[in-house]
Amino acid sequence: MRVRTRFAPSPTGYLHVGGARTALFSWLFARRHGGEFILRVEDTDRERSTAESVDAILEGMSWLGLDYDQGPFFQSERFPRYREVVQQLLDSGHAYHCYCSKDRLDTLRAEQMANKQKPRYDGYCRELSAPPAGATDSPVVRFRNPAEGEVVMEDAIRGKIAFQNTELDDLIIARGDGTPTYNLTVVVDDSDMEITHVIRGDDHINNTPRQINIIRALGLEPPIYAHVPMILGDDGQRLSKRHGAVSVVEYRRQGYLPEALLNYLVRLGWSHGDQEIFSLDEMVALFDLSDVNRAASAFNTEKLVWLNQHYLKSADPAHVARYLGMHLGEMDVDPSTGPELVEVVMAQRERAKTLIEMAENSVFFYQDFDAFDAKAAQKHLRPVIGTALAALKERLQVLDSWTAPAIHQEVIDLAEELDLKLGKLAQPLRVAVSGRGFSPPIDITLELVGKKRSLERLDKALKFIADRANSA
Ligand code: GLU
Repeated sequence: MRVRTRFAPSPTGYLHVGGARTALFSWLFARRHGGEFILRVEDTDRERSTAESVDAILEGMSWLGLDYDQGPFFQSERFPRYREVVQQLLDSGHAYHCYCSKDRLDTLRAEQMANKQKPRYDGYCRELSAPPAGATDSPVVRFRNPAEGEVVMEDAIRGKIAFQNTELDDLIIARGDGTPTYNLTVVVDDSDMEITHVIRGDDHINNTPRQINIIRALGLEPPIYAHVPMILGDDGQRLSKRHGAVSVVEYRRQGYLPEALLNYLVRLGWSHGDQEIFSLDEMVALFDLSDVNRAASAFNTEKLVWLNQHYLKSADPAHVARYLGMHLGEMDVDPSTGPELVEVVMAQRERAKTLIEMAENSVFFYQDFDAFDAKAAQKHLRPVIGTALAALKERLQVLDSWTAPAIHQEVIDLAEELDLKLGKLAQPLRVAVSGRGFSPPIDITLELVGKKRSLERLDKALKFIADRANSA
């Protein structure tokens, strides 16, 4: 049996991290078994589905590198097929038309609630042999759920689960206007697309016995189900916008690397010993549904940040550089106006938690600044250092080879000559050239800023110091 899994988002919003984790598990399972991963867009709800949401989902998947072998299939393009299956169920007696008015159903519901019963359809139209007099000509179609017995499934994550048929009522599979409902479309698609393993959020667990009954009524065998527990926020409630970012695209915007989010998501509910860091290849080699936790897991942003730092430090600098360039671009900084991005990544990657932080700390390599950081300038660009800084500028001006070691040597030599502690000279130099109180090692900073720009900025700092001396 060739494993075929699918991710079946409803395009009614962004790609939620919970959805992304479900997609990742489905993807990993398919890859692990040399199977196929299918993307299916469940857009039958025409009012709530949007093209922007489809784009956001595709963008999120592509950023995470979750490629699919087939699709995206759109349910909105498959209505004729669903109609055919509804008709098949009607013809075989597994479905029936229901003419009950909204009023009747509302009254029924109110009565059941008043009697503390679970609201459910009472089967009023189940045995009708002809439409009642004055009946609507657009009846809904209901599935004739077995009246007794139980539905048992062996969930690949949660083990055996049994549902009593008496708990399941005759659900609507086609609305009055002929459009199919979720439980019908999923069943038709999972079967037509030959899905072997349905891996999805456990919010669908109550739909599963209904789907299994429909599948059996169609004379088919159900796939294997795996219901993934939900993700909680730090307060134990289901993760939602209140807890901060929940959209995959938002994490990208906030400067996370896709491998960090993937590594984070895989560990959210799945483990392999106490290993924390997994490359994608390792995940593919090790992932198994039986190692997925049954209990819900809590989202922990600190751990995600820790993983992001890990990947910023250890990923291929050229890969990180592409993202750094993207973030700088979003900040209206043109990376072609300064040092190679790869060099900047090498210089900055030890000290940034996110790409945004790295980008913000790197703007000065590409753009001149209007003013020095006030606090840093107050502390380090003081008149006492004016002469030394001017002497340093003279030395750097005549330096032929603008490399970090050569720059380093000049700074050391001068500090020694003037009997200054290295920091006393290096820190003013840093503020002068970067505009701020922290940057990568000063020699590397100067090399990357370039000779011309460094000297211009030193001039600016010397002027700042002179003005300060004059106004004192
Ligand atoms: N479209 C459903 C959702 O987004 C998923 C259905 C399924 O995986 O079976 O919740």
